[in-house]
Amino acid sequence: MRGELYGKGMMALLYRRFMTAVLALFLCIEWGPLSEERGRWGIAFGNPFLKEVALTFDDGPREHGMQELMAVLGEQDVHATFFLVGKFGERYAPITLSLAAAGHEIANHTYTHPKLYQLWVEKIMREAERCDEVVEALGLRKTRFLRPPGGSFNLKIFNAMRRMGLRLGLWTLNSADYTGRPAEEIIHLVIHNVTPGTVVLMHSGVPNTVTALPQIIHELCARGYRFVRLEDLWNGGRT
Ligand SMILES: [Zn+2]
Repeated sequence: MRGELYGKGMMALLYRRFMTAVLALFLCIEWGPLSEERGRWGIAFGNPFLKEVALTFDDGPREHGMQELMAVLGEQDVHATFFLVGKFGERYAPITLSLAAAGHEIANHTYTHPKLYQLWVEKIMREAERCDEVVEALGLRKTRFLRPPGGSFNLKIFNAMRRMGLRLGLWTLNSADYTGRPAEEIIHLVIHNVTPGTVVLMHSGVPNTVTALPQIIHELCARGYRFVRLEDLWNGGRT
């Protein structure tokens, strides 16, 4: 029984390795070396030799909790990246403008927050374009990073981004603040898992996140970390 289980486990492992190799080969054929592609098309972490961390907030702006979030970041002089859902950016335009005015980076999280991987390339592009149209109508700079809702992506999404000149902005560390977990858990998870170049996923309008942030910022600053936006991380600390 044990041997049988071991055998099954080995088969599953070999199968996973085989499929990863096939995927890597396919991506290499399609777009060239993966290492170059990471630099050209996407980012999930920064320079592992620089003590920088990027806080990213998805799904905003929300009706409630944004002033509190901005106040906490402002008090600590932290600049973050906000992945904007276009329709909310439009509905709460004054909040979108105040985020940008406070020096935060506005990035693209589509217009309606659909499951992008289920859409065709043209629809994916339209979702991203509509978010950008909101941003540009407010007189703000066109977004540079796209984060697909849920973080799921596929070749169609890559293809759409390549056509639009957008980069994939993923994350390294998921705070899972959307689960309603207490602030203490968010603090513990983040401060024990941040390493140089980490991109932290958080969400706009989550009260426990706002409660957790002062301690997270304080602890990481004490350890010598600097908080940067995703585009600063992309530039490897040159800004
Ligand atoms: Zn989202």
